[in-house]
Amino acid sequence: MRYADLHTHTYHSDGTRSPREVIDVAQRHGLEIIAISDHDNLAAYFEVKTYADEQGITLVPAVELSCGFEGVDVHVLAYAFDPLDETIAAKLRLFRDARERRGQRMVERLQTLGYDITVHRVEELAAGGAVGRPHVARALVEAGYAPSVSAAFDSLLGTGRPGYVEKDRFRISEAVSMIRSAGGVTSVAHPSSYPDHARIVPLALDSGVDAVEAIHPDVPEPDREMYTNLARFRGKFITGGSDDHGTVKTVETLGSIRIPESLIGPILERL
Ligand code: AMP
Ligand code: FE
Ligand code: FE
Ligand code: ZN
Repeated sequence: MRYADLHTHTYHSDGTRSPREVIDVAQRHGLEIIAISDHDNLAAYFEVKTYADEQGITLVPAVELSCGFEGVDVHVLAYAFDPLDETIAAKLRLFRDARERRGQRMVERLQTLGYDITVHRVEELAAGGAVGRPHVARALVEAGYAPSVSAAFDSLLGTGRPGYVEKDRFRISEAVSMIRSAGGVTSVAHPSSYPDHARIVPLALDSGVDAVEAIHPDVPEPDREMYTNLARFRGKFITGGSDDHGTVKTVETLGSIRIPESLIGPILERL
C-alpha cells in the first residue's frame, strides 16, 4: 500500500519550500504519491516532474482554485487534469495577474494606514509566483508590525480586516467544468473552514465537485467522519493532505497526513 499527500504548496504560490524540497521531505516521511497544489499555479509540476519520476514518486497534476460561493471563499482542489491544457493555463495566468494587482492594492491600503511596507518587498517574497496575503503578512512580520503570519491575518489581512482586498474568483461550477474538460477531478478543500460549512459543502457537491478533503489538519475528527459519510452517501470520494506551506504555517506539516492509495482511485486511474 502506498500513501499520498494531495495538498502541498511551494514558493510558486504562498509556501516557502521549493518543489524539490517538497518531494524530498515527503519521501523521507514514506509518502510515494504527491500533489503540489499551489494556488493558481502549475509551475511546480513542470519544474519537478522529471525529478519526482527519478525518485519513484508519483506526482499528480494539481492546483488549488479560489471559488466564490454566496460570498464565501471556497477552495476547490483540482487533480489529474491534463497539465498542458491551454484553457487552464490561460485562466490561471489571468488569476495570477489579478493577484499581483490585488497585492499592490493591499500594500497601498496598508501604507495609507501607516504601515511602512513596500510592493517591491511583497513581490520579492512572492518570487514570481502567485501573490497572496501570506506574502503581505510576511512583509508585515519582517517590518515588526506583527509577531507572526497568523497574527497579521488576525489583525490586518483576514476577511473584513483593514488590509483586506477581495480577490477574483471562479464560480464553483465554472471551475468544475474547466477541470472536467481537461480530464480531471475536483475536491472541496479543508471543508470545516467555511462558515456554515455543513450546509455549504453539500451544495458544492451539488455543483459537481467530485470529492471532499475530509482528511486535513483543520478538519477535526468528528467532521472527518461526517464528511467521509457524506461523500459515501453522495457517491463521491474523499481526498486528504497536509496543506503544507513550509515555514509560513506552523500546524500543517508534510508527513502529518497519509492517505492510503485505495481511497483515491478516481485520481490514480486518471494519471
Ligand atoms: P489569498 O489567497 O491571497 O486570499 O490568501 C489565502 C491564503 O492565506 C490561504 O491559502 C492560506 O495559505 C493563508 N491563510 C489564510 N488564513 C490564514 C491565517 N489565519 N493564518 C495564516 N495563513 C492564513
Ligand atoms: Fe495558501
Ligand atoms: Fe486552501
Ligand atoms: Zn492549500
